[in-house]
Amino acid sequence: MLTIYNSMSREKETFKPLHESMVGMYVCGPTVYGDGHLGHARPAITFDVLFRYLRHLGYKVRYVRNITDVGHLEHDADDGEDKIAKKARLEQLEPMEVVQHYLLRYHRAMDALNVLPPSIEPHASGHIIEQIEYIKKILDAGYAYVSDGSVYFDVPKFNRDKGYGRLSGRNIEELLATTRDLDGQSEKHNPADFALWKKAAPEHIMHWPSPWSEGFPGWHLECSTMSEKYLGETFDIHGGGMDLKFPHHECEIAQSTAHNGHPSVRYWMHNNMITINGKKMGKSLGNFITLDEFFTGSHPLLEQAYSPMTIRFFILQAHYRGTVDFSNEALKGAEKALDRMMDGYRRLASLKPSETSTVDVAELRRRATEAIDDDLNTPVVIAVLFDAVKLINQINDGTAKATAADIDALRDLFDTFLGEILGIRLDESGASATTDDLKPYRDAVDLLLDIRAKAKAAKDWATSDLIRNRLNEIGFDVKDTKDGIEWKVR
Ligand SMILES: [Zn+2]
Repeated sequence: MLTIYNSMSREKETFKPLHESMVGMYVCGPTVYGDGHLGHARPAITFDVLFRYLRHLGYKVRYVRNITDVGHLEHDADDGEDKIAKKARLEQLEPMEVVQHYLLRYHRAMDALNVLPPSIEPHASGHIIEQIEYIKKILDAGYAYVSDGSVYFDVPKFNRDKGYGRLSGRNIEELLATTRDLDGQSEKHNPADFALWKKAAPEHIMHWPSPWSEGFPGWHLECSTMSEKYLGETFDIHGGGMDLKFPHHECEIAQSTAHNGHPSVRYWMHNNMITINGKKMGKSLGNFITLDEFFTGSHPLLEQAYSPMTIRFFILQAHYRGTVDFSNEALKGAEKALDRMMDGYRRLASLKPSETSTVDVAELRRRATEAIDDDLNTPVVIAVLFDAVKLINQINDGTAKATAADIDALRDLFDTFLGEILGIRLDESGASATTDDLKPYRDAVDLLLDIRAKAKAAKDWATSDLIRNRLNEIGFDVKDTKDGIEWKVR
C-alpha cells in the first residue's frame, strides 16, 4: 500500500486514486528563461520516481508538467518585468526564441538525468483562450474584479467564504500586515489580491487581446487552467517545490475553488529545497551552478565534473522532504557509493550458483517495497540495495551461497528498484561514465584482456605485461582474481 505525505493534511495518507487504475498528476514545471540548475533537478527527479513507481504498480498515469513561457514576473510578484521578456530584451531575441533555446537545453539536461518525459507538457502561451475563459467564470462567481484593464482575484472575499492560506499555514491577517505596498498596487482593492490578467504596459512585448485589455495572464492562472483541461476538475496529485506553496499554490487553490466550487487536488506533495555548502542557491551569491556546469565541472566551486547519474543518486540518497546540501565532499561520496553499487550489480554476472542457499532475497525485496511505499523513502531503498551488494560480495568470495534462482532474484531486485524505479542507468560502466553507450569500449577492453590471457597461457610474459601496463597507464585498474580478470576505469 503506497502512502504519501499530503502537504494539505500534513499527514501520511494511503494513496487511493480517484479512478481505479488511472492516476492524474500535475507538477509545476520550469520558467524557461535560463539554464536548468539543481533547483530544477530535484522536483524533476522526485516526481519522476513517483511517476515510475505508479507505472510500476500498474497504473495508467497521465503526468502533466507545464512550461511557463509567459506571465512569470520578476520577484514572483504582480509587478516588474516578465522574466522571459527581460531575457529577450537583454539578448535581443524574440521571447519565443528564448523559450525554445532554454526548453531544448532543459530537455537535454532532463534526458541526461534519465528523467522520463511527462505525458503532456503544455505551454502557458498556448492556452491563452482557456485562461481568459477561466477568468470569466471566476468573475461570474464573484471572486474577481476588473480594475483599469487588469483583473484581480478578491482574496478577502475568498477567505471569508472558503478560507485562504490553509496549505502554507498562513492566515490572511498576517498576510495583510506583512505585504508591503508595491508600485501600481493602487489598482488592487487589497494588497493580498493577485492578478489573473494584467493590462500590458506599452513597452511590454508579450500581450494578447482579451475582454479587459491587451495584456497577459497572471502567473498562477496557467496551472489551474491547464491542470483542469488535461486532468479534470478533480485530480489525484499536484507536486512542486516547497517554495511554491506560497503564493503560487495558494493562488492555484483559490482560483480552482472559485472556478469549480470545490478544490481540485486530492494529494499535495512538495519536495524540499537544495542548499550549496549550507547556503541558499542564488545568482547574487555566486553559488548558482547549472546542471551543465555540474556535468562538465566548469564552475569555480566544483573540484571535478559529476556525472548526471551521480547527481541523480545523490538527490535520491536523501528523502524528498528533507533538505539536501551539495558540496564537493558529499558529491564525491555519492560517486563512490554509486560506483560500489554498480560494481556489485555487475559482479552478479560472474557469480557461481550453488545447490544450496544461505541468502534470503525475498526479505530484501520486501524491505525495499516497504520503503518505497513509505512516502517514497528512497534512502532506505538504497540502504537495502547496499545490503544486497554486501551479499553479492559474500557469495563472490565464498562466505555465502546462492542458488541460480537466488542470483536471478538479486538481478531482478536491482533491475526493478535501482533501474526501473530509482531511474539509475544500469548499462554504464560506473558513476563517472557519461550517458553515451560505452559497451563497444568495454568489449574492446575485454578483447585485449582475452589476448593477454592467451599470451599468459603461452607463457608470453612480455605481451601479457605489456597489455596490463599499457591499460594501467591509460587509466584502467586490472586485477587478477581466482575467478578470472576484473577491471574498471580508475
Ligand atoms: Zn504551478
